[in-house]
Amino acid sequence: MRGRIALQSTAREMVHERCPFSRSFGSADASSRRFLAVVIVDFAIRDPTELSEAADVKILSTVAEAQAKPRVKRRVLVPTMGALHKAHGELIRVAREAAGKDGEVAVSIFVNPLQFEPGSDYKRYPRPEKADEKFCRSAGVDLLFRPSADEVYENDRSTFVEETSLSSTLEGKSRPGHFRGVCTVVAKLFNILAPDAAVFGEKDFQQLAIIRRMVRDLNFDIDIIAVPIVREGDGLACSSRNQYLNPKERKRATVLHKALLAAKDAGKKSADDVVRIAQKVINGAPLARIDYIEVVDSETLKPIEIAGPSSVLLVAVFFGKTRLIDNLRLN
Ligand code: AMP
Repeated sequence: MRGRIALQSTAREMVHERCPFSRSFGSADASSRRFLAVVIVDFAIRDPTELSEAADVKILSTVAEAQAKPRVKRRVLVPTMGALHKAHGELIRVAREAAGKDGEVAVSIFVNPLQFEPGSDYKRYPRPEKADEKFCRSAGVDLLFRPSADEVYENDRSTFVEETSLSSTLEGKSRPGHFRGVCTVVAKLFNILAPDAAVFGEKDFQQLAIIRRMVRDLNFDIDIIAVPIVREGDGLACSSRNQYLNPKERKRATVLHKALLAAKDAGKKSADDVVRIAQKVINGAPLARIDYIEVVDSETLKPIEIAGPSSVLLVAVFFGKTRLIDNLRLN
């Protein structure tokens, strides 16, 4: 069955895009196009293994496989925790561009126990394996690295990577140990997959700043590429955690982006004023409980008093048990 699906889609792709003959048949009538498809199917039947491999994502689950040599292609990595959505798709698209036509896009899916603080949602975090594979396949991912926790961490591990300045505020304050877990796993992924570049989203603004700092401080020879926040039609930033929201909470959660826009559009210079406006909008929404709202410098992440071109407004808000984050640059 698998072979047949791959066969059919390969035939379709070849007819529409990839087949060198398809251009010359571009204006042909329906019967000659059918003929083309039959010829291709006949060809595909002769060597199905080769064709289905070419169309498929290579799925690796062990460190040894991922580190196998030789490796010749430029590799761009998109680290994720899975439950892939539109925003991950955008990161993959940017990775593809950065990899170039001869390079490869690698996606890692790993729900990293080290970055979940005790009592948080590690166990219930969504893990839709088949859907994620399908997503990667249709996004044109070349390599999917999806190890188990036991594969990544030794029981007696005693080495961690910790950034100690940017990690102390915002998410770091609310989620102690979170960024130590993030830095440790990202450093490990960099060592295991040895990418030339890696793509991260600005939705996790602090995480991005910390990864850049780690790359600089530890001399990883890896370009870090940032992707702007991808939003749903109603402004809510895409997130795997949005699926925890019940319909009422989901509706209310749109207040996050509204609050950020209202605070920015008011044109206030004082950070306190900016925060107050955002607070007022969020507090006006039932079900919302603010964890933090802060204006900080986008590089140092230090609080600032007067909003300027490099300021960013960050929020973390609970809707029921679900904690969502968002941010907006104030320039
Ligand atoms: P996650 O799977 O949630 O760990 O996210 C994997 C990567 O996708 C991280 O670099 C996130 O910052 C990025 N990402 C997640 N949601 C968004 C979004 N709405 N816009 C941009 N990047 C995102």
